[in-house]
Parts: sequence; C-alpha cells; structure tokens
Amino acid sequence: MAPQPEEQEFIFRSPLRDIPIPTHLPLHSYCFENLSKFEQRPCLIDGETGDILSYGEVELTTRRVAAGLHNMGILQGDVIMLVLRNCPQFALAFLGASHCGAVVTTANPFYTPAELAKQARATKTRVVITHAAYVEKVKSLAEESGVMVMCIEDSEEEGVLHFSALTNADETEAPDVKINPEDLVALPFSSGTSGLPKGVMLSHKNLVTTIAQLVDGENPHQYTHSEDVLLCVLPMFHIYALNSILLCGIRSGAAVLIVHKFEMNTLLDLIQKYRVTVASVVPPIVLSLVKSGEAHRYDLSSVRAVVTGAAPLGRDLQESLKARLPHATFGQGYGMTEAGPLTISMAFAKEPSKTKPGACGTVVRNAEMKIVDTQTGVSLPRNKPGEVCIRGTKVMKGYLNDPEATERTVDKEGWLHTGDIGFIDDDDELFIVDRLKELIKYKGFQVAPAELEAMLIANPNISEAAVVPMKDEAAGEIPVAFVVRSNGSEITEDEIKQYISKQVVFYKRIGRVFFTDSIPKAPSGKILRKVLTARLNEGLVVV
Ligand code: AMP
Repeated sequence: MAPQPEEQEFIFRSPLRDIPIPTHLPLHSYCFENLSKFEQRPCLIDGETGDILSYGEVELTTRRVAAGLHNMGILQGDVIMLVLRNCPQFALAFLGASHCGAVVTTANPFYTPAELAKQARATKTRVVITHAAYVEKVKSLAEESGVMVMCIEDSEEEGVLHFSALTNADETEAPDVKINPEDLVALPFSSGTSGLPKGVMLSHKNLVTTIAQLVDGENPHQYTHSEDVLLCVLPMFHIYALNSILLCGIRSGAAVLIVHKFEMNTLLDLIQKYRVTVASVVPPIVLSLVKSGEAHRYDLSSVRAVVTGAAPLGRDLQESLKARLPHATFGQGYGMTEAGPLTISMAFAKEPSKTKPGACGTVVRNAEMKIVDTQTGVSLPRNKPGEVCIRGTKVMKGYLNDPEATERTVDKEGWLHTGDIGFIDDDDELFIVDRLKELIKYKGFQVAPAELEAMLIANPNISEAAVVPMKDEAAGEIPVAFVVRSNGSEITEDEIKQYISKQVVFYKRIGRVFFTDSIPKAPSGKILRKVLTARLNEGLVVV
C-alpha cells in the first residue's frame, strides 16, 4: 500500500550517488592507502619552522610512534590525551595512536588544570602529550593518578618524557593489533544538545566514513585533491580541523599547512608563501580578514576555495569575503562533532560556484538528512523549518558512559538529533535558522551553559542561575548569566565574573551578569532559556 501522506517520510540525500566506503580499514591504513602515489610529496608543512615532512616520512614516523607507545605499555583501547596547539606532532601522535589501537582524546591546551583533570578522569587517560609551556598544568595528573606526561619540547620537570622517545622508536616493534571497525579511535568532547561536555565516541568506521564522504569517489566539485595545499589554522583539537582538514588532506595526498596560531598578517603571509588552495576557516576569521584591510597587500590568487563552518556566517560577511577573493569559490559547511563531523557541504550542492548567501550546502553522500517538526517529530517537506536530523555510519557510537544522553540524541532508528533548526530549499540546500539546544558558540568554540550554571550555583552567594548566549559581532555569541543572589548577599557582577574566570578557559568566561528575582522555569524545572534570550533581544535588561 502506498504510504498515507501523514506516514510519508521526507528524507533528503546527496545529488551524488553513494560510493563504496572501505569501512573495514582502520583509520590510519585508510588514510595512507594511496601512499605509494604520494610518498615523496609534502604531507605536513610546519608554518612556524618551515619544516616539511613528506608522506613517506609521516607514515614511517606514525609507525614509530605506535612502536614507542607500545614500548611504554600502552595497550589497545588505552586513552591518550593531546593537549597540543597546532603542530606536526599532533598529526604524528594521533595517527600513531590509531596504529597501536589506542584512542585519542583531544583537549584545548588553554584549558585550566581543573578542566584538563576532569577530561583526563572521565576518559581514564594514561598518557598526556603536551608542550613544555603546559606541563605545569598537567603535572598534578601524574601525581594523583599515575598519568604519564610526555612533552614535545625539552622539559626540566622531573619524570616528563620527551616525544622523541616515540618518534625514534624502532618501527619494526610496532604492535600488530587487530582493529575492529567499531573500535574507538577519537574521543573529542561536546555538550551536544544539553548538559555537560561529554566524550563523543568516534570509531574507526565513523571517521573513515566521514573522510570518504568528502574526498573519495567522483565529485565534479572535489573538496580536495592531491594538488591542493590545505590551510590548517583552525585548532586540530576540534574535530572539524582534525577530520575535515588534516585527515581528509592526508587521504587525498594534499599538503597540509599547519599554522600554530592565528595572527592575520602571518596567516596572509603563509597563504601567499605556500600558495594555499583551500582555506577552511570560521566566521570570526572571515570577519578579521574583511576588517583588516590588509588582504590586498598579499597575493592570494592561489586560493581556489574558502570553506567556513562551526558557526553561522552572516550574508553580509559572505558577500564582503567574496569581494576580497573574487577568484575563489565560497561555501559553508555544517557539521557537529557527534556526526563525525562535516555533514553538509557546498561541495555537494548542485552548483557550488553559485552559492546562495546563508546556505550551508547539501547533505554529503552515504548519509541521510531529514527535518522534523519539533513538537510532533514528523518529518517535514522542503521550505519548512524544523530540527535537522542526520543518519548514517558517520554518526557517533554514543556518549562515553552516558547512555541516557546517547538515547536522547540518537533515536532508535539511528537518527542523530542535532538540536539545530533549519530548512531545506528547492535545491536541497540547508539553511540553519535557529538553535533548539542550549549550546553557546564563542568563535566556533563550544560553551555548555550547564557547566557554568553548576559553577555559579556552587557559590554560596548565588541561589539560582541561568546562562544563555548574547549576540556579539566579533565572537558570534558570548555567554551571559542571569543570577538570583542568595538572601542577604551583595555579590557584584565583577566578583561573579572573576569567580568563573578562575575556573575556565578564556572563551567560557561570562561576558555580563544580570541580577534578577527569579529564573523562569517550566513545571519540570527546566530553565526557559528562550524567555531569557528574548529579554536580551527585546532590550528588557540593561546591557
Ligand atoms: P561542534 O560539535 O563543536 O562542531 O558544534 C556543532 C554545532 O555548531 C552545530 O550543531 C551548530 O549548532 C553549529 N554549527 C556548525 N556549523 C554551522 C553552520 N554552518 N551554521 C550554523 N551553525 C553551525
């Protein structure tokens, strides 16, 4: 019987045909599968030192790292935490860990010691690999729980091992582990649609799928190929850069230019010097580029494509960028750590060169997308906004030690509920228009309101608190707090801000505090965040 209209599912797929994806291969074997074609070609370019590692060198070193980890007693399934800024060693450690069956959890190196300790404990981290500048922050982990600390530069601290102990190991001693496609390889953190940051369990199969979706098979608007020089200025500890720049680049034989930190003139200089062809950025970098007025001093004609993602990009900004780089195609990507990550890409749109302002592109192949009504859960046709849902082997295995949160996010039919509101237009392109979930995005970095609220109410001067996003031109959004003081307390805005700043990385700092008599809540006790954001937007609080 033909489906009745109310039973009809509106499911959207890529205009490109599905391809066979070698999900039986472990991530590192898949990435280096075409090594013989690229062996002598540059793989990693260190933007700071100018050092270049060829594909052959990178592959050999990752086997050495695997041998070194094995010699240190790291077993299959053990967790290694990278507390690293962008650097070639990040890639070597990640792929070396994959080679020996270990799992990498990535952390922002600017995290406070408490934030790092929380993640290390949650993941049962056995080794931390970091820079000399951060050894002090992770030292207590070694003292408390016997975590081994390894440093990529010389460190004077007692007991800290040097990364060269891995890169100089004998590759013939690399363990011969049998990796199952379902085994975990990466454990980045994300707060998802609600609550505290959680470990996102990504398997070899998940990441092989997400890379293949972008770079394998025929695609007239190939995301990247072996002639490309990919800009990697976004932090490699975030899955967007790790997967969609570094690993996609390696799979396709491109050169990956690793930029240690973002500074506009240095960045423009590096793009010019190394003839970057694909620049993956985030809206705040686009804003700086457009505002800096420096771009015309550099030859940026090599850039054939600019991709932005991680946060919404306004139409005006998109137009200004196009004017600065008239030769480049321009597109947004949309993704989520839990989807391993990039899901929607302009490379899959019907005509990527004719992007519509605000469009994120079309769903990648070997995946499905639907838009559901947030009240009824029924899937919606084109041009109707609802929650964006994704299905496919790219979707995470679940949240680490949190089956309830996993169930809330991935339903029984395998649909990942993103917590984003969007619609699909007549050309199957996705437009994100709102966010259902609590998440705040500061320059593309995640801020989980629940984490800040827990800290606020732990303060005896505060009886209730709610944290919501406030629009900000430079950052996109900043976290602001609505606070009910405890009886008799006279705690000030500055005191609260300082109290939080001491505990969190810079982008989670609270921008403003608004004192109020009560926090609006649903009968279930859930904070009505939309009421508070509406108060901000309507100017009902003094900003
Ligand atoms: P993360 O897991 O840190 O990558 O954050 C994923 C979230 O970032 C998504 O669920 C969206 O809320 C937001 N996001 C990512 N890409 C875009 C985009 N192109 N437009 C709007 N929001 C985006």
